[in-house]
Amino acid sequence: MLLHQSTWPEVETYLGRCQGIVVPIGSTEQHGPTGLVGTDALCPEIIAHEAAAEAGFLVAPTFNVGMAQHHLAFPGSITLRPSTMIAALNDWITSLAGHGFKQIYFFNGHGGNITTLNAAFAEYYAGWSMRGEPCPVVLKQRNWWELGSVMDTCRKLFPAGEGSHATASEISVTLHGYPQSVKSAAMSPRIAPDGTFTDAADFRRNFPDGRCGSDPAQASVEAGKTIVDVAKAALITEVRPFFDLPAKAEAAE
Ligand SMILES: [Zn+2]
Repeated sequence: MLLHQSTWPEVETYLGRCQGIVVPIGSTEQHGPTGLVGTDALCPEIIAHEAAAEAGFLVAPTFNVGMAQHHLAFPGSITLRPSTMIAALNDWITSLAGHGFKQIYFFNGHGGNITTLNAAFAEYYAGWSMRGEPCPVVLKQRNWWELGSVMDTCRKLFPAGEGSHATASEISVTLHGYPQSVKSAAMSPRIAPDGTFTDAADFRRNFPDGRCGSDPAQASVEAGKTIVDVAKAALITEVRPFFDLPAKAEAAE
């Protein structure tokens, strides 16, 4: 069940049986010569939508612009400042909590968001703590690649050149969701350099085609399906007890 494709009475009915919601969260940033700019938002969205169709939980619109200042030297990348993201996340959380959502599960697709997401949680909890009131909401974040055996699956599929940005795994997940988006480009060296960076100019200097340590030419629709199937099952296994959802009932909703 998708929030933005539901009516308010449907959301009200859902809240009568479950107070949990999954919020896919990602980034809009370049992903090398063959990866979609939306990759980090699309990966958790694709997995969450498939899992929700099977398990019946509610998925919020994707929070699809995050921490991407280091990608701004590549066309198409959009970033928030950390302070903007913390404020926006607090507005999302406050809105959802006001309707009675009690478990908000941020399903993350971008490593660069982790610190800011934790800071946003601290900001939200601090408001309640400083008023001396108990917070009615539990906030959780999980990176899709850390679920269950997802990482092992990716390592088996791509034993060399997985890297850390514009990886064959994440691009495969987007190809599973959007098979019409298979791209090809000449990439040299085959496995991109890895290393550190500071700002956007430094990133572009160190990683001229946008990849970090990766060989995304290995990505495929088939690998994407394998990864999504493993991630989907692991997401359901984690979210069901967190949301106190029954194991099988109401799966059709
Ligand atoms: Zn990514």
